[in-house]
Amino acid sequence: MKIAFSAEDEAFRAEVRAFLDEKLTPEMREEARKTTTVFAEKDLAMRWQAILVEKGWAVPSWPVEHGGTGWSITQKYIWNEECAKAGAPGLIPLGLRMLAPVLFKYGTDEQKAHYLPRMLSGEDYWCQGYSEPGSGSDLSSLKTSAVKDGDDYIVNGTKIWTTHAQFADHIFCLVRTDPNVRPQKGITFLLMPMNLPGIKVDPIITMAHDHEVNQVFFDDVRVPQSNRVGPENEGWTVAKYLLEFERGGGGAAAGIKIALGELKSVASKERDDGTALIDDPGFRARINELEIRREALEFAELVTLSRLSRGDSPGAGSSLSKNTSVEISQQISTLKMEAIHYYAMPHANLISLNGHTDPRVGPDYAETATARYLNSRAASIFGGAREVQKNIIAKTVLGL
Ligand SMILES: Cc1cc2nc3c(=O)[nH]c(=O)nc-3n(C[C@H](O)[C@H](O)[C@H](O)COP(=O)(O)OP(=O)(O)OC[C@H]3O[C@@H](n4cnc5c(N)ncnc54)[C@H](O)[C@@H]3O)c2cc1C
Repeated sequence: MKIAFSAEDEAFRAEVRAFLDEKLTPEMREEARKTTTVFAEKDLAMRWQAILVEKGWAVPSWPVEHGGTGWSITQKYIWNEECAKAGAPGLIPLGLRMLAPVLFKYGTDEQKAHYLPRMLSGEDYWCQGYSEPGSGSDLSSLKTSAVKDGDDYIVNGTKIWTTHAQFADHIFCLVRTDPNVRPQKGITFLLMPMNLPGIKVDPIITMAHDHEVNQVFFDDVRVPQSNRVGPENEGWTVAKYLLEFERGGGGAAAGIKIALGELKSVASKERDDGTALIDDPGFRARINELEIRREALEFAELVTLSRLSRGDSPGAGSSLSKNTSVEISQQISTLKMEAIHYYAMPHANLISLNGHTDPRVGPDYAETATARYLNSRAASIFGGAREVQKNIIAKTVLGL
């Protein structure tokens, strides 16, 4: 298999780098670098989105007539890779990369005309109402009910782990419209404004002290049937289609390279006893192992890219890449905790001493390490838990 980028692709890469050099300010890079949560801060992501919309590069995968770039799969990969290398903030994918493909495939013309431009301009901000207490990996067991009443549905139930629901003005939800059939058969996909009477959002504060996820309650919420996407009771097909877009677009190896570089830099700092951790053979061996795994991941990503550009599907490649990239990232954050030593005390970065207004303790590079370490544990749960990915690999690759 030949894996090489063409001269045109390399010219495109140069164009992307020049754009990022010009538009991605040092302040934005610094804000993105300090992000500890899965998504960038809303304000930062929306500022970057506005810049990309102006350039016409915000939604590479959308159809060109709706604002897409028409890039090849390779160009999209290069874009993702260069953004990761430059430390660009990620755009919030909930609307742009998750709901939008669903609307293109299953939405009515009215829904497309109404929602897509507002999503792109940032006027509407979406969250995802799939998971419920007791229905995560086993999503089709979900219980939030929607009962028809005239032209509306009356929705009751709760959704949990709803990322950015505290910012969102819209939610896309899976609801049960028929409890008397096979679980997958009685589900419907609904769009709702968050200001409908009967919707309540309760924050969930994580161990990292982040407010990223929430629990959303629905108490007799009246939703017009015209807010349904796809036919009634066929929401499972719509839901699965959306999940295909939930995992990233490749390029994780590039971001991991940056993180490994940062780890090596921190571990190279002189300690109180005059030595540096990086010179410890045991520690060094663990970094080397991660570097080898990162390189293997990069090749796996390129193999997937090569399959996609031939029109094949990624197969189990996305599950393998997801598990590998998450494992490497989690191990990097663990080693960073070791490297920063006592500054890795839980929330040392949040301790406020004697009324000092600047709550930081320790050097800059230690500031976000604990929060990032804690938050990175979530990556092997959301977007398809690690064991669920392993089940997919066992079935499709090993034939078990
Ligand atoms: C930070 C974060 C953000 C999230 N954001 C959203 C959001 O915006 N919207 C939304 O709808 N959901 C969101 N989720 C929820 C996420 O999709 C679920 O947490 C995930 O699907 C797992 O479900 P669960 O938490 O119920 O765990 P469970 O499904 O109960 O899993 C518990 C454990 O059992 C294992 N397990 C489960 N089934 C199997 C199996 N068949 N074989 C082997 N092992 C298994 C899992 O791997 C896991 O280790 C978010 C989660 C997190 C952590």
